[in-house]
Amino acid sequence: MTARIVMQQADITRALTRISHEILESNRGSSDLVLLGIPTRGVILARRLGLILDGIEPGAVSIGSLDVTMYRDDLAKNPTRAPSPTSIPSGGIDGKTVVLVDDVLFSGRTIRAALNAINDLGRPRAVRLAALVDRGHRELPIRADFVGKNLPSSLAERINVHLEEVDGTDEVTIE
Ligand code: 5GP
Ligand code: MG
Repeated sequence: MTARIVMQQADITRALTRISHEILESNRGSSDLVLLGIPTRGVILARRLGLILDGIEPGAVSIGSLDVTMYRDDLAKNPTRAPSPTSIPSGGIDGKTVVLVDDVLFSGRTIRAALNAINDLGRPRAVRLAALVDRGHRELPIRADFVGKNLPSSLAERINVHLEEVDGTDEVTIE
């Protein structure tokens, strides 16, 4: 199957810049913001958002990563999945606005697992969700607050998110 490019590097950068502004607008600034990326590419996106946010409003945006492997409802089916590290910024998440960051939002089950993981880590003031791509097909009542691109897809299609830091190139394709 051939892959069609749906976002190029400039599109990804523009989307992340817009999302950064939207985050600052909804949070009324960068205070008490914690961005938690979901490994692997969500963490990279969270770091990029952190850099952009710092460029717009220099301040204390904290970045961390949240592994949700042990909280998945399909753990019994896929017990071999290797966990990635969870790393919560030193200030913790109590009372903070946590923005979960992931590359693709699909059924919503990963985010459901992330909410459980957060529940074990503390009590944020609010939890928001940012996704580079929303491909639809939700199975749970979950939606993203900040979306890079809505990409209605068929179940048979696959979205490939390539990011420079791990893939050597910035590109989103659908195949
Ligand atoms: P969900 O849990 O919402 O079904 O799926 C979201 C998670 O699975 C995300 O962490 C995302 O990385 C991955 N995922 C689901 N569908 C796709 C897809 O089409 N392409 C990519 N790259 N990742 C996907
Ligand atoms: Mg993922």
